[in-house]
Amino acid sequence: MRLILLGPPGAGKGTQAKRLQEHYGILQLSTGDMLRAEVAANSEIGKQAKAVMDAGALVSDAILVQMIGERIDYADCNHGFILDGFPRTLPQAAALDALLEAHGQPLDAVIEMRVSDAELVERIAGRFTCSRCGTLYNDTLKPTAIPGVCDVCGSTDFVRRDDDNRDVVTQRLAAYNLQTAPLLPHYDAHRKLYRVDGMADIGTVTEQIMAILNGLQEAQPDTAVAQN
Ligand code: AMP
Repeated sequence: MRLILLGPPGAGKGTQAKRLQEHYGILQLSTGDMLRAEVAANSEIGKQAKAVMDAGALVSDAILVQMIGERIDYADCNHGFILDGFPRTLPQAAALDALLEAHGQPLDAVIEMRVSDAELVERIAGRFTCSRCGTLYNDTLKPTAIPGVCDVCGSTDFVRRDDDNRDVVTQRLAAYNLQTAPLLPHYDAHRKLYRVDGMADIGTVTEQIMAILNGLQEAQPDTAVAQN
């Protein structure tokens, strides 16, 4: 199964990708995580990407296309993958179409996660992660049960992303609306686009996505239509 989770920053793509990865055993490929790893390693790509990411803008298509092209060649992607954060521009989508065609691996679905701008800002500005186990929290929407202690692993070390603040989030939303939203008609025209209500609680969103995927397993590929 090859999926794209498409939606603005804070829509819950990472959270849902992890749940789907666990359920279906297919790999989450997060380009944001890959870039943050490059930044942490202080690699050439990381050095180029850091300032762009901190400003809430998009890193160059050439870097992203090469990164994803190399990654999907790994054997662990043979059974499929969940793209989280890629593609984000029309040139990236075109490059992905060509890559998948060359691999003989058609895309199964693009799931759009819809969330209002006000909710997105609230979600992102308060977001933090356990540095040991990666569990995501939010100051107001999902705090730890005991302040400063991870509910899952008990660690007291947390990290906040440099770009998860109110100023940068505005830029990230603008980049989404300008450069990524045009992908919606692209995938709709290819009859790959499905929509879920990203405002619902985490479990309900997962159920909505699984219902689409289960339906797809039975349907003919050419019956795929956007859901509202
Ligand atoms: P994310 O973790 O998906 O929110 O990504 C964090 C940042 O990484 C974005 O704001 C961009 O600066 C950069 N980034 C991630 N994926 C892409 C992509 N597909 N194209 C361009 N920039 C990206």
